This record gives sequence, C-alpha cells and structure tokens, in this order.
Amino acid sequence: MSGGWEGSNRRAELPPNWYSEIRPEVLRRDRRRCQWPQPAGGICGAHANQVDHIGDGDDHRPANLQALCETCHRRKTSAQGNTARWAERARRPPERHPGFIDPP
Ligand SMILES: [Zn+2]
Repeated sequence: MSGGWEGSNRRAELPPNWYSEIRPEVLRRDRRRCQWPQPAGGICGAHANQVDHIGDGDDHRPANLQALCETCHRRKTSAQGNTARWAERARRPPERHPGFIDPP
C-alpha cells in the first residue's frame, strides 16, 4: 500500500481508529501536555489538543506519536510546508520572460 508514496513526506491516510482510539490514547499518555522539546531543555508543556507523527507519517504506533499544542503543531507543519515548497521551486525550470519583445 505504500507504492507511489516513496520520496514523499505527504501524510498518508489516518487509520479508521485514529479518532476513536489512537489519538485519545496518545493524549492520555502525554497527559494532554505539549511534548515539543524546548531549546533550553524540557518540553513546551502547554495544553495539547493535537497528535503529531514524530517521524514517518505512515507509522501510527504510539512510539511515533506525540501530543502537541496548536501553536507548536502549526509551527512544525508550516516548516514542513515551506521545505516542500522550496523543493518544488528548485525542481521547476526557470520561467522565460514573458512580454519581452524585440524592438522593431
Ligand atoms: Zn507547545
């Protein structure tokens, strides 16, 4: 089932028990505290209402999941988005100048 997704870090579909079992389980395990590591040590610790894949988005085992607060989760996903956008831009050939017309 993973064919076609190799080389992509796009998140795969969530399992059917994600909302009913996996997600509440991870939030309970992490005591609804954001697990985002702080530069000075320790974790963010804010109220967590998101569950994030630490590594592989296809790996839904609790060891690969962590509770995050909305702020940290958004920061993480937007950083990934920027990386993907830059990669996309680098692959595209340079645009030709439109509207450049030789003078008569
Ligand atoms: Zn946080």
